[in-house]
Amino acid sequence: MEKSFIPFIKQTIASLLKAASHLVLPCCCTYCKQLLYQRTILCDACLAMIRPIVSGSIQLTTTRSIKVIALSAYKDPVRRLILAKRWSDIQAGAQLGQLIWDLTHFATIQADYIVPIPLHWSRYAKRGFNQAEQMSRVLAKKRTIPMAKIIKRVRKTKFQAGLSATERQSNVQQAFELVGGNLERYKHKHIILVDDLMTTGSTIKAAARTLLAVQPASITVVVAARVV
Ligand SMILES: [Zn+2]
Repeated sequence: MEKSFIPFIKQTIASLLKAASHLVLPCCCTYCKQLLYQRTILCDACLAMIRPIVSGSIQLTTTRSIKVIALSAYKDPVRRLILAKRWSDIQAGAQLGQLIWDLTHFATIQADYIVPIPLHWSRYAKRGFNQAEQMSRVLAKKRTIPMAKIIKRVRKTKFQAGLSATERQSNVQQAFELVGGNLERYKHKHIILVDDLMTTGSTIKAAARTLLAVQPASITVVVAARVV
C-alpha cells in the first residue's frame, strides 16, 4: 500500500467512528433539545435540575432491609427519559445508566452482579426491549461485572399505575421466579437490582424477596427515579 494512503485511511476510520458514536450520544440535550457543544446527555442547565436524592431503604423481612439508591425524584428531566420507553426510545435506558454512573455513588457500592427487573415476556415482545436491562448493561460495563438475568416474571401483572399500595402488593406477589442453572455462584455475593422507576417499592420488594433464595451477601437497589 502506498504510504500516502495511510493518513487518509486513518482519517476516514476516525470520522466513521465519530459518526457511529453520535448514534449513541445525542447532538442535542435529551430534555430541552438545545444544541450541545460537548458530548453529554443533558445540557448544563438540565443537568442542574437533577437534585440528588437521599438513599432510602425497603424492609424485606423482619430482620433484613435493603438500600435504595436513586438518581432523582420522579421529576423532569429524569421522568422524561423514563417515559421515553413508551415512544420506543431504546437509547433512553442507556442514557439513564450513564447518568446514574455520573451523578450517584454507584461506583463505590459493593457489587458482584447486576440483575435487571424483568418484564413479562408478552410485554417485552410488544416493546422489544426492557429499559431496566438497557440501564443494567451500561452499569455492568462500567463496573466490569456481569449482568445476570436470573429472575423472570412468571405472572403478567397489571400496570401498577392507578392501583392502591395494597393492590400493588398483591398484584406483584409471586410474580417472579429464579431462572438459570448454577444459582450457587450468587451465594454470598453482592447483588445490584436495577429498575427504572420505584413507586411504592412493591415490585422491587417482590423481586428482591425472590433473590433472597440464592443467599446473597447483600442486595442493593439502584433506580433512575424514586417517587417521594
Ligand atoms: Zn437541556
